[in-house]
Amino acid sequence: MNYKDYIRIIPDYPQPGIKFKDITTLTNNGPVYAAAIDAIKQAVADKQIDLVAGPEARGFIIGAPLAISLGAGFVPIRKSGKLPGEVVEASYDLEYGKDKLAIHKDAIKPGQRVLIADDLLATGGTIATSINLIRQLGGEVVGSAFLIELGYLDGRTKLDGIDIFSLMTF
Ligand code: 5GP
Repeated sequence: MNYKDYIRIIPDYPQPGIKFKDITTLTNNGPVYAAAIDAIKQAVADKQIDLVAGPEARGFIIGAPLAISLGAGFVPIRKSGKLPGEVVEASYDLEYGKDKLAIHKDAIKPGQRVLIADDLLATGGTIATSINLIRQLGGEVVGSAFLIELGYLDGRTKLDGIDIFSLMTF
């Protein structure tokens, strides 16, 4: 399957000069969405994953179905102010902008094996911050998985040697 055929490139979104990779043209195709999640699952199946953690909002689109297919739980990582319980927070830089991420303090027990999932790896700021939050709770980050990696932004170098699987690289 050539998954790239299902990604729509939108120029100058959300800012001039950015070529946004729109994944909704992949996820609105049931068989292709299922095949993409299954391909990621196969790639990480040997990692004995207890939990999949995904950052808001497109990390939910990949992380939640992946968690179910692995028989793992799902932990949402959200923007500051969105989670109802006690949280730990960390600031991060985006490809365009700055923000703060949060995770429920009791979402991960020390020693649990966590895979991070998101739609896209760009500069790596979102995932580096997610790794930081999971480690603050004592979770063991056993890998990360993405539909898309933007190779030219070199986000890999921020991920502290953690295993990276990406279904597509641009
Ligand atoms: P990073 O923190 O690695 O620089 O940026 C990755 C985050 O920004 C991801 O959570 C992703 O959803 C979002 N993002 C940045 N650029 C794009 C893009 O071109 N397409 C999509 N779908 N998401 C993007």
